[in-house]
Amino acid sequence: AKASGGNTLRFFNPDMQASVLERANLEADLHHALARHELELHYQIQVNHKGVTTGVEALLRWYHPARGWVSPAEFIPLAEESGLIIPIGDWVLTQACQQLARWSRQTAYAPLTLSVNVSSVQFQQPDFINLVEKRLEQTQAPANRLVLEVTESLLMREPTRVRNTMLRLREQGVRFALDDFGTGYSSMSYLKRLPLDELKIDQSFIRELLTDKADAAIVDTIILLAVSLGLLVVAEGVETQAQLDWLKGHGCYRYQGYLLGHPKPIDDLFTDKMPRR
Ligand code: C2E
Ligand code: CA
Ligand code: CA
Ligand code: CA
Repeated sequence: AKASGGNTLRFFNPDMQASVLERANLEADLHHALARHELELHYQIQVNHKGVTTGVEALLRWYHPARGWVSPAEFIPLAEESGLIIPIGDWVLTQACQQLARWSRQTAYAPLTLSVNVSSVQFQQPDFINLVEKRLEQTQAPANRLVLEVTESLLMREPTRVRNTMLRLREQGVRFALDDFGTGYSSMSYLKRLPLDELKIDQSFIRELLTDKADAAIVDTIILLAVSLGLLVVAEGVETQAQLDWLKGHGCYRYQGYLLGHPKPIDDLFTDKMPRR
């Protein structure tokens, strides 16, 4: 392209054209992923300071027939832009509720909570409350074991409506976690207004916790904030014993990360280690 205009040059940039095509292809394939049973849930345990598994987070996986595993970081944004997150999110919720219902019938697993990531797009559907109620009813899952993980971007949008939705679901017993805390446009006023149960400290603050004084100060402050607001605080991305010891010493008693366990298919989750209690 010899055109001089910046836009024209950019349009003919072959790299960019490839990536646009790539995204379009991936999105087209995502349309079939559900029907072709290419999606599955993996589960990652959450552990308390006594080493007891208290809950599990469901994490979506896409096994693409040609590309292999595609990361949710790559396909969730595509699903959100295309609206596919609605049927996909419903599938995730249904699977999770079925799993909760199975656990509720086994004494050793009945106390476990199951956390599900909910996209803002999904949460803002007018029938979201009905959908959650319907899935809980159909599966007979215990509502008070279901934790919906939302992000700060959701809370910013329509705070009043979001709050009402949360209150309605909370009447049923559903709990709410604020995911990736500290990475978005945090506002302390959300914490005050919204019926939250849990704060999840983003893994980006945990990574260099022991070497970066600023990260340590931020994590310390989030823990104090959560505790004084009566919220459960969960540290994400805990990879070393030293990180866990630091967190425990600073009043954080819930951990999730590779140190405790990688996300796994359900059948592999408790094979090596039954939840101790
Ligand atoms: P997230 O909700 O913050 O999930 C935690 C991510 O950290 C997961 O990545 C998990 O595999 C990874 N992780 C866990 N422990 C460690 C650790 O010790 N170190 C490191 N480096 N990473 C760790 P994953 O599974 O790739 O998911 C990425 C994101 O995709 C999630 O971040 C979540 O925002 C989104 N996602 C996943 N499943 C769903 C879903 O069902 N629905 C929606 N809407 N979003 C989902
Ligand atoms: Ca999450
Ligand atoms: Ca997170
Ligand atoms: Ca994240």
